[in-house]
Amino acid sequence: MLDETIEQSVRKSLGPCLLKTVYVEWLSLALAPHGFNADNTIACVAACRDELCSPFINAVAEAWGEAFNLSSLAGVPLLGVTGFEAALSHAPRVGGRERFLLMGMTHVGTDGGDLGMVTRPGQPKATPACGALAKLRSELLAGEETKPEFDALDLHDVEMSLLRRRFGHLGDRDHVPSLAELTQAAACAITDELEYLVERCVRQRPADFCIATGILVHTPQGPSRVVPDKTYAVVLDGRTELRPPAR
Ligand SMILES: [Zn+2]
Repeated sequence: MLDETIEQSVRKSLGPCLLKTVYVEWLSLALAPHGFNADNTIACVAACRDELCSPFINAVAEAWGEAFNLSSLAGVPLLGVTGFEAALSHAPRVGGRERFLLMGMTHVGTDGGDLGMVTRPGQPKATPACGALAKLRSELLAGEETKPEFDALDLHDVEMSLLRRRFGHLGDRDHVPSLAELTQAAACAITDELEYLVERCVRQRPADFCIATGILVHTPQGPSRVVPDKTYAVVLDGRTELRPPAR
């Protein structure tokens, strides 16, 4: 399928998108006037554990240096305050200030039409992406009688348990969220969690930060796209919105 058609399809269901490499390059250029560069900033990235997300993490590392890994299933940072504080303690301090690039991407696959399935290298047929969100949706579809206890914490399935707690309330008997809706909810949850962690852990430090969140869209051929959610920088407590050149 032509790139143009894929981008039209993504735009229709999730919003404007741009190639991941274009997004990463744009972000570097957009942050430079606000004082962020690879020497004075630590990048921290939350993406799903799925190997399809690795090229994005690698592109960020190429632009900003090796990134602290905030990752959990569906890209929702579930590492908690302790893990996040470890990332903070690794930041360079230049001119008396620390700088954090806090990125978070959930993800979804597409073979060109509907969202949710993508054919991976070497596989004969498409499989779900994000598999965790697809599983959660099938549990929601199963209905009250058969769905698992959404508040339970399975010590051998901790990340999925936390996703159920966060998203299990979505929808009702008459409407189970589509995968596109669930994916957008995950992108919002990523932003919310990063903003919570910032309020709790970053605000009291001599630090500037950028939050850059969104959705990675994987296609069978070619690079992933990014559908941006929030992108803004906070320098000396002043917030500036950064507007990606999304198509
Ligand atoms: Zn996933």
